[in-house]
Order: sequence, then C-alpha cells, then structure tokens
Amino acid sequence: MSGSKGKEYGSLAIRDAMLINGRGTPPYGPVDIVVKDGKIADIINVDSISLARYKNKRGEGDHIIDAKGMYVTPGFVDMHVHINIADEKCGPKGTEYAYNLCLAHGVTTVRTCGFGTDDKLLEHKRLSDANKITAPRLVVLGSWPAEVHTVDEARDAARKLSDLGVDGIKIIPRPHVTPEILEAMTDEARALELPAGVAIHIAQNSELDALDVTFAGMDKICIEHTYGIPQAAMPGTQNFPPEYNYSNEVDRFRWDGYIWHEADVYEEEVMDVLDIMIENGTVWDPTMVVYEGHRDYQRVKSLPWHEKYTVRQLWEAYSPSPGRHATHFFDWKTSDEIAWKEKYQIWMKYVKYFFDNGGTLVAGSDTAFIYALFGFALIRELELYQEAGIHPIDVIQIATTNAHATLGDEERALGVRKGAPADLAIIDGNPLDNFKVMYGTGVMRYSPDRKSVTHGGGVRWTVKGGVVFDCAELLRDVEEYVNENR
Ligand SMILES: [Zn+2]
Repeated sequence: MSGSKGKEYGSLAIRDAMLINGRGTPPYGPVDIVVKDGKIADIINVDSISLARYKNKRGEGDHIIDAKGMYVTPGFVDMHVHINIADEKCGPKGTEYAYNLCLAHGVTTVRTCGFGTDDKLLEHKRLSDANKITAPRLVVLGSWPAEVHTVDEARDAARKLSDLGVDGIKIIPRPHVTPEILEAMTDEARALELPAGVAIHIAQNSELDALDVTFAGMDKICIEHTYGIPQAAMPGTQNFPPEYNYSNEVDRFRWDGYIWHEADVYEEEVMDVLDIMIENGTVWDPTMVVYEGHRDYQRVKSLPWHEKYTVRQLWEAYSPSPGRHATHFFDWKTSDEIAWKEKYQIWMKYVKYFFDNGGTLVAGSDTAFIYALFGFALIRELELYQEAGIHPIDVIQIATTNAHATLGDEERALGVRKGAPADLAIIDGNPLDNFKVMYGTGVMRYSPDRKSVTHGGGVRWTVKGGVVFDCAELLRDVEEYVNENR
C-alpha cells in the first residue's frame, strides 16, 4: 500500500452544517466547525438568531468545505470487522479495498476481530495513525489461540498478545475453554490494561454462557452476536433434533433460528440475564446485519451495490460451498426464513429492552461474511437498530461515542465538541430522516419542482483526525479495483 488519499490542511472550516454530536442530543445548526492540528478548534453557531444576537464571526481556514444542507456526525465505528490479509479473500489488494469502503461510509475507526494477521494489522494501525495509508483508525484485537487449555497458559497467552501491542483480545471459546480459563484471561487483560478489553463470540458448543462471561469480564467485555444470552436464560439445552451436528453449518444456523423462540418462553429469565449484564457494564454488539441472509437470502444476495462494489474474489467467497465457513445456504428453506423472521422480532425486542434499561450497545457488521460488505453493512446495522425501535439519534450514539467508550477512548467518547479529535462524517442528507442517505450508492430524490428524479446522498467527506477523505474518490478507486478483477 502506498500513500494516503487523505488531505491534510493547516486549518479547515466546515461551513453551514447541521450537527449531530453523537451524545444523544438533538441536531442543531447551521454551525461552522473549525479544525486545527487534527482537533476541533471551534464550533460556531451561524443560525440566524445567533448571528443577529452575538454577531458571530464565520469559521475560517486554509480550506473551506461548504456543507450547506448537509449533516455532520462523529465518525462511525464498526466494532466487528475481519480484515483478511493472509487468504486474500477480497483479492490481491483486499485490504485497501476494505479500508476504502469503510472510509467512504464515514467509518473512521474499525475494531478488527481476528484471526491470524495481528502483526500486519498493527503495522497498518501505525501507518493509518500517521496518515501514511488510506485507512480508518484500527483498534486491533489479538486473536485468542485455540490451543490454550489451562489457567496458566491463559495468563501467558494474554501477556504474549499484550507484548505484541494489541489493543484487546477476541476469543471464540472452544468446548475446552472453562469459566476458570476465561476468568484468568479477562483478569490478565485487566491487569495489562488493554484499553479495548475483550470481545467474545460465545460459540454455541461452548459450555460458557452470557452469565459466565459477564461475571468474568464485567465492564471490560463485549458480547458479540447473540449466542450465550438466550442460552443463559434457559433451564437446559435448546431442543435440538437427535441428528443435530454443530459442525454442520446448515444445522448450526437452521436451529439457531429457533433459539430465541425457545428462550422467549422464559421471558423473565432473559430480562434477568440482560439486567445483570447491564449492572456489570457488559457491552452488547448484536451484529444483526450479518445474519439477515437467514431471514431473506434473496435480499442479501441481490443488494444493489454488489454489481459495482463487490469484488469477484469476495463474491466467490460468499458463495455456498460445504468447505467454507458461513456459506451454508444450500437446502435453505422457506421454513428457515420464516423462523429467522420471527427470531429477529424476538431478538430485537430484547435489544430494545437492553437499551431501555441502560445497557451499552455498539454497532458491528461482521464483514465480510454472508454478503455483508464493508461500510454498506454498518449503515444497514443502523437501519436494523431503528427497526428494533431505537430512535436514530440514539442509534448514532450507539455507533459512535458508545463504541469509543467501549474501546477506552475517552476523548472520542465525548463526541463532536471543541477540543475533541476531528473524526467526522459529512453527509449529503439527513441520516435521522433516512439512514439510506449514507449508502455509497446514494438515494433517489424528487427534483425541487417534482418533475423529475435526481440522484444524491452518500457520505460526501470523511474526516479522520483532521485529514479529509473525498468519499466519491474512494468509491471510484473501489469501482476500478472491482473492474480490474472481473
Ligand atoms: Zn466475526
């Protein structure tokens, strides 16, 4: 990878923008946002009342961005991405491709969730921080080694990852991981002060459930997906058929379609589990988007951006094959989709319960699995949060400042304010009215005279630490790369 497409200016003024600051408060504006040395130097109210009353001077800078009619939010955080380097899942320049797509959707930080290329990702992290490559800020979770079998080995493995320089740890506990091993690991992660803590995907064939996890990790652990939460509320196991085999992914995902139906019989117990997670400060990253193919396979396969922006190698990796993880859509039935449609209703009910009772949610996409594409999938996750009944203002907080707080980044957790690092998305449209305006493919709009249809929307610029990325340029590069690889 060579060079960064991000432009650095001595000072920058973003003028006439509506501001959503990411702290759950309503939008206001227009404002002029002045950026210097990577930080927000000033936010000046330039609405007509403020101009008349206070005679505010307009924001000035070496470079001016006219954001009239646009909305500014904090840069978004995708809390669950896989940057596959070793296997070239997205082709020979797959890493640049993934980073371009993230930045093009206003994503200024990604938390990488393993596996296997931690040292390379740490190198990318350093280069990104120095604006030497085009990439979002990387928070690198070290991949937990599957061969850890004892408490001592767990402490040792955590120290080794910390020595490597990772920000946190990602674990998918195998059947041999006991609560004691998890406790040793989380205890060590806390002692080593890994800022991003631990993210756990509680495998369904693990003996751990959400209660083991929340008491081990407390406020330094984040539960990925949904596994382990319904399981913790049920008195016994799920009602698997006798021939069930976890290693057969059709079985695994088919029967997972019924886990929330079965747990919902014990509604009080589910709420108790969620209450305990909330009390312990455990974070939940449901990654609803990556499972959407189970409720509507045709939808995810025919998303309008695949043609232009999904590179051939990735398309092949998505395609059903018995030898590839998460491509289990052979014999995928009407009844499976119906089960999953109902499952989403129940799952979202509990996501909303968790939110309503003060739980910390974050947004992750789990790209690039099951037709979920970098950048695009995070915007879809925002839509799914809204579908769960959460107000878009709160959804933006979930996907920005909640994430930074979870990653131990206190500066960015304060949102868009004077003195904070300038991580911003400048959006052509109002995401509170319609999250779809953020998709790189844009939206259709009536012309002002309503006689024709125009095309608009998209994140126009992404600002990362004061460095300005032109999203249209990033998307053109992606398109070119996709065409080269057809
Ligand atoms: Zn994942």
